Amino acid sequence: MTSPVLRIPVFDYKRQLAPLRDEVLRAAARVLDSGSLILGEEVKRFETAFAATLGLAEAVGVDNGTDALAVAMWALGIRPGDEVLTVPNTAVPTVSAIRMVGATPVFCDVDPRTALMDLDAVQRRIGVRTKAVVPVHLYGNAVDVARLRDLLDGTGIAVIEDCAQAHGARSFDKPVGTLGHAAAFSFYPTKNLGAFGDGGLVTSPDARLVAEMRKVRLYGFEHSYYAEREGINTRLDELHAALLSVKLPHLPRWVERRRAIAARYERQLRPRIRRIAVAEGSTHSYHLYVVRLADRDKVRAALAERGIGTGIHYPHPIPTMRGYAFLGHKAGEFPHAEALAKEVLSLPMFPELLDAEVDEVAAALNALAG
Ligand SMILES: *Cc1c(COP(=O)(O)O)cnc(C)c1O
Repeated sequence: MTSPVLRIPVFDYKRQLAPLRDEVLRAAARVLDSGSLILGEEVKRFETAFAATLGLAEAVGVDNGTDALAVAMWALGIRPGDEVLTVPNTAVPTVSAIRMVGATPVFCDVDPRTALMDLDAVQRRIGVRTKAVVPVHLYGNAVDVARLRDLLDGTGIAVIEDCAQAHGARSFDKPVGTLGHAAAFSFYPTKNLGAFGDGGLVTSPDARLVAEMRKVRLYGFEHSYYAEREGINTRLDELHAALLSVKLPHLPRWVERRRAIAARYERQLRPRIRRIAVAEGSTHSYHLYVVRLADRDKVRAALAERGIGTGIHYPHPIPTMRGYAFLGHKAGEFPHAEALAKEVLSLPMFPELLDAEVDEVAAALNALAG
């Protein structure tokens, strides 16, 4: 069987590029002609502008979202032997970052309604070695980080928000990325703010921590050729920063459009199709619009036959993957995350998706699902 042409893809790069193409090419030319290619004015300008969207003073542009998480952990002094709590149903990179600093990931099962970190499970998993918790604002649905911080109060345990899927989301009206001790964003091309290649950013309301993260990004340098501490190289390129600056002003409008698309799906999908609940206090930014279906794989294939693309985020809980077998987990340990992995289906979701396409997807799903 040849794979059918997807008329309605789950994400469409070209539709986003088209209206911005001339401006993007002009920005690229400006950088190439300037000859300033690494850590110059473009990166500074983008860092400041992105931080300002969160009401923060500063941010540190890095090479990707995985490094952003790792830089935060490294700057916070997390080391081999330390434990970092996160969820089994996140993207693998959350865990890659924990391993990059040599720490041990400890998984907490999720709330089956929201698919987000269950804060009671967090409380049960805290031990003497716990140094940080990484709540993941999965799909753009905001974790109640304020409550998490309340329950960690006095423990010295740091909270690092994984905002890779949540540009534009808020929790109790505060932007995600401002709620923890540090926060990591990804600009992977499909994210709510996508670069033309890899990109990431790490930030914190704490100026001292930002300064440490800035050093970690660049070999530990405070000034040229002198390492104040150990570091790595994970720079955001001038070129990517300049192109991200073209897109950044559109982010609020794009997130609003994602919300409108989600609301349209909500209205059109039959009530019996199970949704992922919006978390309490969350102003969702809908990086993904996800439903739960018992016969997910069958429905997915039938939608593809009709030219409708879908995604699965994610098909395997991380503790069950061969690459993490060394952690010694067994099937059945994380029942909610395991059930979600079998049932979640991400519908087409990007700002340029047309209302008529949303209607077509909803009608197809209504006809196919149960
Ligand atoms: C995309 C993503 C990351 C990693 O971002 P990269 O830029 O691809 O390294 C981390 N966490 C989550 C939840 C993600 O979705």
